[in-house]
Amino acid sequence: MSKKIKAYIFFGPPGSGKGTLARLCQEKFGWVQLSTGDLFRKHMSEGTELGKQIDFAMKSGRLVDDETVIKVVEQWIEEQCCAVKAFIFDGFPRTLVQAELFLKLINERLTQLQVELVEFEISDEVVIDRLSNRRVCENKTCQAIYSVKEDSPRLPRVPGKCDKCQSDLIQRSDDKPETIQTRLKIYHQYAQALFDFYQDHGVKKIVVPAEASLDQVFKTFVTLVDVGQ
Ligand code: AMP
Repeated sequence: MSKKIKAYIFFGPPGSGKGTLARLCQEKFGWVQLSTGDLFRKHMSEGTELGKQIDFAMKSGRLVDDETVIKVVEQWIEEQCCAVKAFIFDGFPRTLVQAELFLKLINERLTQLQVELVEFEISDEVVIDRLSNRRVCENKTCQAIYSVKEDSPRLPRVPGKCDKCQSDLIQRSDDKPETIQTRLKIYHQYAQALFDFYQDHGVKKIVVPAEASLDQVFKTFVTLVDVGQ
């Protein structure tokens, strides 16, 4: 039997470091990641039809409808080549409907994929603190993440400028206080049902304590998964 390709579902509240860890795994191991949030933001900044359609949901911190999400994810999966070591899904599935359709897709058409759930464990207080201090590079091909918190290891060298490409740093419109609350509320609204669903379907779960530094989170993660190096 051919070797299964891991499909890691990164699941945790906004600001728990899913995107940062996903990018690091992409860099270090050549894994391929899909961030539905990044993909949607790209559509918005390019002003595509889809971008216009999802503008309100994105800016207010609400979810994009399931049908649109699934369509975009299916298309993305079809575009991937087969020589992938592992996939990371960051920010997807977010609802029970998405999770059901995703497992169905894997069972029926992507049988070489083996799903594992990676839970990012972090308190709401730490999330609120992180997101309200988060700034991102406005250059869409860079998108490096910083913090304006004085004692953060992610403080940019020059205030307001990206260390990597010198573009301006901006605050995401959904990192404003009211929107952070909405996003957290929506996360908690769906989280337990999703955990139960994966458990009922025998999906292996690993838990990453996500309040630690990125270095530490990365070290923990590699001890828990097969990085195939
Ligand atoms: P993120 O970057 O993952 O925090 O996502 C930012 C925003 O994109 C979310 O607040 C939603 O509006 C939208 N979004 C991203 N992924 C999904 C998804 N799987 N289902 C619905 N909406 C999503």
